[in-house]
Amino acid sequence: MNPNSGVFIGTDSGATTAKTGGVWADGTAVSTKLLQSSTNTQAGTGAVVLGWIQGVKGFLAENQLTWGQVRGVGLAIPGPYLRYGVLARSANLPPAFEGWDFRADYARALAEAAGRPVDLFVGNDGRLGGVAEARVVRGKTRASVLMLAPGSGLGCAYIGQDGLPLDGDTLAGMEAAHMPAPLHLLGVRPYPCGCGRTWGCIEAYTTISGLPHLLADRLQEHPEHELARSALPIREQVLSLRGRAQKGDPLAVGIFDFQARALGLHAAVLALALDPGFIVIGGGLMDPEATTPEFRERYLRVFREAALPCLWPTQRATMKILPASLGELSQSIGAALVALYSVKS
Ligand SMILES: [Zn+2]
Repeated sequence: MNPNSGVFIGTDSGATTAKTGGVWADGTAVSTKLLQSSTNTQAGTGAVVLGWIQGVKGFLAENQLTWGQVRGVGLAIPGPYLRYGVLARSANLPPAFEGWDFRADYARALAEAAGRPVDLFVGNDGRLGGVAEARVVRGKTRASVLMLAPGSGLGCAYIGQDGLPLDGDTLAGMEAAHMPAPLHLLGVRPYPCGCGRTWGCIEAYTTISGLPHLLADRLQEHPEHELARSALPIREQVLSLRGRAQKGDPLAVGIFDFQARALGLHAAVLALALDPGFIVIGGGLMDPEATTPEFRERYLRVFREAALPCLWPTQRATMKILPASLGELSQSIGAALVALYSVKS
C-alpha cells in the first residue's frame, strides 16, 4: 500500500456524544467538519461500540475513503482507567461500565468492520486534545507543549518532543488540576475539591468547579452587588459571571482576572518541572464562539503577567503562550494523530 494514501481515524467518545475525525499520513486533518453521533451509554457498552463504528463508517463515506485505507485508529475517552484500555468507576457513566475493556471490544469491532485487524491506540481525551493543539503550535519543530484547559474542571496535558502525551506509570500523570494552589500569593482560603484533597487544589481557583466559593467570598466584600440578593440557584449565578464580565461588571471581571492569575502562577509552577516551549490555553474561556476578543486578550494578558516573572530568564524570552485553536475537533484529531505517531514509531 502507498503509505501516503493511508488515513488514521480518531474517535472522541464523551458521555453523551462521539465525534469522529481523521488525519493523513503527514498529520494534516482529512476534514474540519465536525461529525457527531450519540454514544447511547444508557443502552450499554455494546451500543457505545456500535456508535463508534458507525461514526467511522460515516466519516469514511463522507470523505470518499475505504476501510482498506485505514492504517490505524485512536480512541479518546475520559478516565479514570483501571489500566490501559479498561475503565475504572466514572461519575459520568452507568455503574456497569466499571471494568469495561473498551479497547478489546473496539479492536474486535474494528477488525470485523475492516475485515482485518486494525491497530488501535487509546488515551485520555484531554491529553489527546493536547496532542492535536501541540501539532498546530509547534509545526515542524520538536518543541514540547503544556496545555491547560479550564472548563468545569481543569484539563492538563504535557506533550513531549515525540508528540505524545505524558501518561505516567499508572496513567495518572499530569493530573495537575489537583496540585495545590499558592494560597498565600492568591490571598484565599483552601477551597474544597471533588477529589477530596484539602490543600486547595488549583482546579478550584481556575474553573467553574470552585466558582461558588469564589463568588461567595467576593460578595462578602461587595454586598451591594446584584448577585448578593439573587434568588437564582448558585450554579446559574456562577454561569452568569462570564456574560457579566464581558459587559464590564467589575466583580465578574475581577473574578476572571483572579482565575487568570491563578492559572498563570500554576503554569509557572509546571514550567519549573516541564520547561515547555509552548503553553496553550484551551477551554470555553478561549472559545471564539463563547467569548469576545477583548475578554480573551485580557485573560491571556493577566495570565502572562502572573506567569512570566516566575520563569527563568531564558524561558521568559522564548516560551510562547497561545490560545487553543481547534475547539471541538481537537480530541478526535489528537486521537488520530496518536495512532499515526504510534504506528510509525
Ligand atoms: Zn482536587
